[in-house]
Amino acid sequence: MRDETALRAALADADIAPQLMVLVQLTGDLEILDEVAPHIHGAWSFLESVPPALKQKVADHLVEALQDCAVLDRPAPPLPPSETLQRMMSGGVGQTVPEEYIPLLVEETRLGPEDPRAVHWQRDPVGLPIQDFRVVIIGAGIAGLGMAVRLKEMGIPFTILEKNPTVGGTWLENQYPGCAVDTPNHFFSFSFNPNNKWSRHFSQRPEIHRYIEDSFDKYDIRRHVRFNVEVTEARFDEAAGRWTVALRRADGGVESLSCNALITAVGQLNRPSIPPIPGLDDFRGPMFHTARWDGSVDLKGKRVAMIGTGASAVQTGPSIAPEVETLVVFQRTPHWAMHNPNYHKAVSPGNFWCLEHIPYFGKWLRFQLFWAGSDGFHASLQRDPDWSQPALSLNEANHKMRELITDYVRKELDGDEALLAKVIPQYPPYGKRMLRDNYWYRMLKRPNVVLETTPIERITEHAIHMRDSTVHEVDVIILATGFQASKMLAPMEIVGRGGNTIRQAWGDDDPRAYLGITAPGFPNLFMIYGPNTNLAHGGSIIFHHECQVRYICQALREMIEQGYSTLEVRQDIHDAYNHLLDEKCAGMVWTHPGVTSWYKNKANRVTVTSPWRLLDYWKLTQHFVPEEFRAGKPGQAARVPGQEREAVAFAGQLPVS
Ligand code: NAP
Repeated sequence: MRDETALRAALADADIAPQLMVLVQLTGDLEILDEVAPHIHGAWSFLESVPPALKQKVADHLVEALQDCAVLDRPAPPLPPSETLQRMMSGGVGQTVPEEYIPLLVEETRLGPEDPRAVHWQRDPVGLPIQDFRVVIIGAGIAGLGMAVRLKEMGIPFTILEKNPTVGGTWLENQYPGCAVDTPNHFFSFSFNPNNKWSRHFSQRPEIHRYIEDSFDKYDIRRHVRFNVEVTEARFDEAAGRWTVALRRADGGVESLSCNALITAVGQLNRPSIPPIPGLDDFRGPMFHTARWDGSVDLKGKRVAMIGTGASAVQTGPSIAPEVETLVVFQRTPHWAMHNPNYHKAVSPGNFWCLEHIPYFGKWLRFQLFWAGSDGFHASLQRDPDWSQPALSLNEANHKMRELITDYVRKELDGDEALLAKVIPQYPPYGKRMLRDNYWYRMLKRPNVVLETTPIERITEHAIHMRDSTVHEVDVIILATGFQASKMLAPMEIVGRGGNTIRQAWGDDDPRAYLGITAPGFPNLFMIYGPNTNLAHGGSIIFHHECQVRYICQALREMIEQGYSTLEVRQDIHDAYNHLLDEKCAGMVWTHPGVTSWYKNKANRVTVTSPWRLLDYWKLTQHFVPEEFRAGKPGQAARVPGQEREAVAFAGQLPVS
């Protein structure tokens, strides 16, 4: 290491767990691991009590190791064996990391020299009709970008169609004040393109948008995107094995494109839900949805109403409260919000330096954060049938969480029990999406903020009228009222085999798919962030996207290598999967009778959120299984390739219990 002074200064300031992991990886010194590990009590950086002298010892050894190895100039050391990795990982997060997670963690952090999520041809690509195969991706957000990078690696031609004038999807559209990621940034990024330059642990929207833009440029994807074109319809021609995609240009003109495979990457949260409140249209002042923020409206000194208290509201409210004259928050149901000490923190200079200069430091930090936010809470979100307080919580662990959060909120509210009673939900934690407290409760204590919990009766030209006859005169209304998540793929008309539309298959709001990726009746159509793939117990949606992208790449490889013109998931496989998925959801917090949320449709079925652990979904999507599909070749009827795989046998592999 060339600059020892800078290195020592950085180590003195940087997180201890990634330092320790790098040291053990470079030296194989398990003794120091055993010495430090008992002082690490959890996966978050603030859950350690390593004595200063021991920290110094780790730093000294690391300086030595980095000098000895001149490691910057050397290729990666071989990966330690699985048992050593398990011991290291468990020590690094102060918990036992089960053996079954090791391959997933190695993959997610890219600890090995290979890119394990790249899909390679199984046949010599020379001679395969790769260049004749055309893919259309709808959406130039994070999902479309991840898909495009992998298709490009495989040499498969593709076009991305994007309704907006530039890239970014949800991170372009949501420009409300305070918009930020609430998943730790160092793993809210592609595994193949980690970013060591995040300024905060949970960055603000502009920085995330810049990361997406930079990634588009780095992988030279932008030139494959057609901007300002909205897909209105996609129609499958079974004989040709092709989709015809109709699009509307910004100038109003229409045109169509033909492709072999169609991939939707449109997100679940892009069609704002406008509440059907009587009189909404009568309001004379500015009124806009958080995802359609009107930056031309100056909120300074205005009387502002904000309807809704979900993830968007909890970021918007505290960001605008100091400048408005009054802010009236209209809460229909309270949400649970957790405190995280790192939520508002900048990445410390020491961590920043280590991420930039110390090999593997970023990988181990990513591991730590992935573990902190992955499957840890999953077991506590399962209903215990014998639990004594089923209305309030699901089981002992869930109840403990209820108590911990309640204690935290009580402190934030300075013991204001009347306010506490209004903001603590009467349903179990995690019933709706768990929020990160963005100083929401402190905001409610401000003299210019009012929390209104009486139902809204109607809106008039200048006011919001409550059912108890209270009237709030306001200048601006902000609708933080969420999205039409269950209306997946709307308003596009997707017409599959036999002229059946996706709305006929799914109804207005009951989407279903195999693995959330593919649906019977819609050959050669693949979805990223499709039905039941939202993450609500933990994880990063980018992780899920990468699972889906790999699976789709394998499916396309199968089509091209085998010469299939159509590939359609079997109905029995799809049905068995969804049956088990519904069964799994039935025992989880999302279906708790006391909760309404965007995870469920009008019939109370969970359509949006995944019930599986990250590990389960990773396993389920790791290998495309041709026998679960019907494949057709030009001029031949579609059939199941190879031995028909029994749906029942397949179902046995799923983690139902
Ligand atoms: P949301 O969670 O669906 O919240 C909508 C809010 O509006 C709820 O409080 C809801 O009340 C209220 N509401 C809806 N219709 C209403 C009506 N007619 N009258 C009164 N209140 C009404 O929407 P969101 O806050 O936009 O968040 C949606 C999702 O986007 C999040 O769950 C998250 O996944 C994502 N998101 C993520 C981040 C991030 O930090 N990464 C930030 C923002 C959003 P009820 O609860 O009673 O229905």
